[in-house]
Amino acid sequence: MAKAGAHPRPRDLDRYVEPDLQATLAERTGIEAETLRQTVFTRWAGLVFEEDDVRNKLYWLPLAGTENSKRSFGQQFCPACLREDSVPYLRLSWRLGFVTACARHRTLLADRCPGCGEPVQILRTMPEKAIRCWKCQFDLAHVPLGAEVDAVDLDRQQRLLDITAAGWTPLGAYGPVYSFVSFRILMLVFRLLATAGSRTRCGSGLPNGSGSRPRMRPGSNRPSC
Ligand SMILES: [Zn+2]
Ligand SMILES: [Zn+2]
Repeated sequence: MAKAGAHPRPRDLDRYVEPDLQATLAERTGIEAETLRQTVFTRWAGLVFEEDDVRNKLYWLPLAGTENSKRSFGQQFCPACLREDSVPYLRLSWRLGFVTACARHRTLLADRCPGCGEPVQILRTMPEKAIRCWKCQFDLAHVPLGAEVDAVDLDRQQRLLDITAAGWTPLGAYGPVYSFVSFRILMLVFRLLATAGSRTRCGSGLPNGSGSRPRMRPGSNRPSC
């Protein structure tokens, strides 16, 4: 629900809806504006991220496609789900960075075309009955299934989705915190692990399990870094 080229990040089709387009869609389809809002990333404002200023990257929302001619992650999808759809469609949760598996089919999601290797870019795909690779027209429903995912990893993923749905989670001695705070902390931990060995400004004790807690601003539920 976006006008291609009308937005600074047009490839993020599911991130932003032009208000006038949303009003037009609601009027022409008879679907409530709030229902339409729930079909895009705004539904996770205050849950996965605090708010979206539209121009900056959102953590847990990987770019899908290309940026400045550089390839990035593609739109994730489960080929088996697409095969089962009477009209194939992309699930919104497949865009979340912590959702990497299909719980229904217990396989890793795919994010690129096996025919040409290009990341899936839905805005470059012409709408039709099948969802195809924008470059070589490979039908994504026929992409080979990804590796099997075990129950433990699926359970971890489901716990993160449950936190998202609840909007809060207990955080040890700090008590309950908003879910977007816990996701922010989780992202910081991942970044620290990814750059292990180089000390960073905040939370240098987290990766080695020394028991350090994320520092919080006094009177705030936000991490201080
Ligand atoms: Zn599936
Ligand atoms: Zn292709």
